[in-house]
Amino acid sequence: MSTDSTRLSRITVLGTGVLGSQIAFQTAYSGFDVVAYDITDEVLDTARGRLDSLVAAYRAENVAGAADGKAEAALTRIRLTSDLADAVKDADLVIEAIPENLDIKRDTYQKLAAVSPAHTIFATNSSTLLPSDLKEFTGRPAKFLALHFANHVWVNNTAEVMGTESTDPAVYRAVVEFAGNIGMVPIELKKEKAGYVLNSLLVPLLNAASDLLVDGIAEPEMVDRTWRIGTGSPFGPFQIMDIVGLTTVYNISSTAGPKQRAFAELVKKHYLDHGKLGAATGEGFYTYPAK
Ligand code: NAD
Repeated sequence: MSTDSTRLSRITVLGTGVLGSQIAFQTAYSGFDVVAYDITDEVLDTARGRLDSLVAAYRAENVAGAADGKAEAALTRIRLTSDLADAVKDADLVIEAIPENLDIKRDTYQKLAAVSPAHTIFATNSSTLLPSDLKEFTGRPAKFLALHFANHVWVNNTAEVMGTESTDPAVYRAVVEFAGNIGMVPIELKKEKAGYVLNSLLVPLLNAASDLLVDGIAEPEMVDRTWRIGTGSPFGPFQIMDIVGLTTVYNISSTAGPKQRAFAELVKKHYLDHGKLGAATGEGFYTYPAK
């Protein structure tokens, strides 16, 4: 591979959890050969189930081509392995989607650096760690950046591309191009920013909505109605929280300031303790028809 005319063609995904399985599948669906790595063969068995569910989801949601066998064909382009050196031996690009934990990421990048070809680009899907928190462990800061997907990649198809001061601009361009080649809309960040673009916009909105509820100003339905009518958005902030999942909303709010913690307690008492976890379970701030 040369980084000026780059077509990144051999892709390895580290981690086959919620996001890793989606990234691997979407990449294979777009015609690429993919190697998906996870730590044990038992976890890879789970990954097979996740990938089968994605075939079903792409078909059920009428993703273009899914009804014509494209989803099943994508599966045949994904090779699963629990051997890291084997996973990366031919990779042009490694996309890391392992747990959001600095120790685990450090350890994995150090091992990865030792076994990867010199030309291989590394991209992290980390949501909260900045790539500059990780770059020194990669052994190749010029070939390292963040490529951040959103859950349900086939629908929420933003891919935020964020380098560090050390990232080679040609590497950055190659990854932007790759994101487009797998059906994502590349969102180009010119500098590092915690929360990227999407969460820099979304988190303050959700916090403002939860403050309105905690302060007794307005009920969720009124807040959401205001936002929908006032901006033309399809969803209000409490609807978005139901989609994100109230466990995640609770986890994030309970580590923030006093008012956010009060909101976390409200979410726990009125929703989580009653099994109302959001849209996925049929009930959260709103109730949803059975699927
Ligand atoms: P997850 O827990 O569902 O999956 C993580 C996977 O990594 C597991 O399959 C695990 O077995 C594997 N793994 C690989 N190497 C490992 C190691 N050394 N130790 C432990 N596990 C290892 O996590 P996820 O939700 O897919 O998140 C992965 C990354 O993607 C995180 O950095 C997260 O911030 C980011 N992300 C997640 C979402 C989301 O909505 N879940 C959205 C955007 C970005």
